[in-house]
Amino acid sequence: MRQAVSQASVADRAGETAGKKAFVSRCASLQFLLFRQTSDFTATTGSWTRERRGGFTYMQLELELRLPLPTYTVQHSRRARYLSVRVTPQLGVTVTLPSGLREDAIEPFLLEHREWLERELLAAERHPTAHQRGRLPASIELPALQRNISVRYEGQPGTRVRVTESVAGLRVAGSVADKHAVCAALCRWLSRLAKRELVARLRRLSAASGLGYSRCSIRGQRGRWGSASTSGHVCLNYKLLFLSPAVVDYVLLHELTHTLHPDHSPRFWRRLEAVLPDCRRRHEELQRAAVAVPWWAEQ
Ligand SMILES: [Zn+2]
Repeated sequence: MRQAVSQASVADRAGETAGKKAFVSRCASLQFLLFRQTSDFTATTGSWTRERRGGFTYMQLELELRLPLPTYTVQHSRRARYLSVRVTPQLGVTVTLPSGLREDAIEPFLLEHREWLERELLAAERHPTAHQRGRLPASIELPALQRNISVRYEGQPGTRVRVTESVAGLRVAGSVADKHAVCAALCRWLSRLAKRELVARLRRLSAASGLGYSRCSIRGQRGRWGSASTSGHVCLNYKLLFLSPAVVDYVLLHELTHTLHPDHSPRFWRRLEAVLPDCRRRHEELQRAAVAVPWWAEQ
């Protein structure tokens, strides 16, 4: 989708002797041609203007052309409470349909948010990862664990996608043609892995630094590597597995320090520096780290 709204105008010149009917038919064929050339578009408004100049009648057709609704994938959800739509460079437009709603609620909803959709699609097309759209990984590199895991796909149409891990690598079985389902299953696996590995790491760092916490949970939130509350609840993003061990330790200690200081005050940094002297350098490294997360984990 290149241009959301495009204006087309067609000028036609016809001899004065031509009757109104001839005009109409000539213009109708022009209109037809125009539509043939721009069959990707649909006209929402159109108006003819006529002007007489030097013994000729000039006719101009102005059309406001809009792109049709983009193709989209529907995800049926039992948990979702509202109809929602998201756009990603890899999977395009995905609509989440709560179980209480019928599919014919989707198009009016998309039309209502059409301008937003067109903007998002334009941004998605320019996204640097757009070229690898939909390519599922043959191997997964997890720098945090210093592991590179190969992935094998086994198509079993009509069955739920499951990920199992063995010494041979990952086995993804089920309806693997459904990329949404594969990405979701891979993310569930990442989450399980993070629960084992990151939680153990947090426990070790907590013991070594003397910074306590009450519990730790794992999530896949966007744009956030972790969070912590003063009640001691630390929440970590499983996408941390794609970062280097040094940066992961920085994030974990950063969150542990937040259980004492909820802000980024000088006191917070002094406390963090006491346990991790090069924390500011690692902080800078973290700022550049988001590109390490593969597209399929950004669902
Ligand atoms: Zn912070």
